[in-house]
Amino acid sequence: MNDSFSTDKNFALQMDQKDPLSHYREHFFIPDGTLYMDGNSLGLLSKESEYSLKRVFNEWRELAIKGWLKGKQPWFYFAEKMGEKAAELVGALPEELVLTGTTTINIHSLVSTLYQPSGRKTKILADELNFPSDIYALKSQIRLKGLDPGKKLMLVSSRNGYTIEEQDIVEQMTDEVALLLLPSVLYRSGQLLDMEYLTAEAHRRNIVVGFDCSHSVGAVPHEFDKWGVDFAVFCSYKYLNGGPGSPAFLYLNERHFGKKPMLAGWFGNNKETQFDMSLEFDPSPNAGGFQISSPGILSSAPVEGSLELINEAGIQNIRKKSATMTSYLVYLIKELLYDNPYGFQIVTPLDAGRRGGHIAITRDEEAFRINEALKTKGVVPDFRPPDLIRIAPSPLYNSYLEIWQVVRYLKQIIDRREYERFSDDREAIS
Ligand SMILES: *Cc1c(COP(=O)(O)O)cnc(C)c1O
Repeated sequence: MNDSFSTDKNFALQMDQKDPLSHYREHFFIPDGTLYMDGNSLGLLSKESEYSLKRVFNEWRELAIKGWLKGKQPWFYFAEKMGEKAAELVGALPEELVLTGTTTINIHSLVSTLYQPSGRKTKILADELNFPSDIYALKSQIRLKGLDPGKKLMLVSSRNGYTIEEQDIVEQMTDEVALLLLPSVLYRSGQLLDMEYLTAEAHRRNIVVGFDCSHSVGAVPHEFDKWGVDFAVFCSYKYLNGGPGSPAFLYLNERHFGKKPMLAGWFGNNKETQFDMSLEFDPSPNAGGFQISSPGILSSAPVEGSLELINEAGIQNIRKKSATMTSYLVYLIKELLYDNPYGFQIVTPLDAGRRGGHIAITRDEEAFRINEALKTKGVVPDFRPPDLIRIAPSPLYNSYLEIWQVVRYLKQIIDRREYERFSDDREAIS
């Protein structure tokens, strides 16, 4: 594929011209003067999300409490409806998926239920490169079972600090492991783990398997049911463009239906009996049973419009474009930014099948100030200390020309030593 790319600006323009998804860019609000390459941290607002949010907002104004049953998408069933809408995106049955809580809360609620240490099987296996919140949650779940996280949490280590070998994970699946939780895509390097293979290997050893797919859903197709994953969580504000702090999704494989959620709350109750207000919790037998509180309807509303847009574009088409975009970015970096004095390295797997939607680059020196210089040119990348610059071209709203432009800026910043004008001070959110 690399042979067919070119560093020429016209090539980028031609790619945009023949891109079947290029018109989706017009559905998004792109902040003025920016080259937005941060869709893996916070996706942009679409007109569809603006519309579904405004509709719900008006329903609150006009229907007030009646909105729970009379809203266009009745609020009482909103969370389940969103599960239905996202089901195909991740290869799940509608009732296996619900929009609720947050990524971390959902890990707590699923792990508290599905992690049942007994006999020799008492350990949780995870990896040392996962998002810190996931690891905090696992440690507290071990503590809640009266066990010592120092002894019961095993973390697979990375050989190079950026990626994890699937083989190394499998080797640590001992008969002491009760549960495995891994990210689908590692948030720093962008490596995509082979979820199907890992699930099969874990199940062969009677290990419950869960994935945090926050960094992959909306960019990569998933087949949770086909792979047989036990549970999964993912946020809706990254590639799903659901808005800052929008609720997360919770997936529970139907083989676990009927298990009593360990973190009970009234919204997990059977819909038919919820308003009987009995003091006996009667949980929905499916993923819905894992809801805890009244759903944040205003923060859920944009997810509706966004899912409709993504479903219309088709996740297979989205993945295809995403893979071509990241391959093009890799090509340009290799051609223009590898040799001295540029000296960039790519830490993301070079095989497009083994990565999600972003490319992470690093450099022995000055990565932070180079990133600062890039920001003053209107590029929105994101920086992960100490030295990673992540560039995420989102297939629904970024263009090939923008990728070309970002690489040109990076080259310029080195050519003219522009980074020297910036300080090393960091803001709280980068
Ligand atoms: C984005 C992300 C989170 C975020 O957690 P919240 O509880 O939604 O704030 C957690 N884990 C991973 C792997 C993520 O990518």
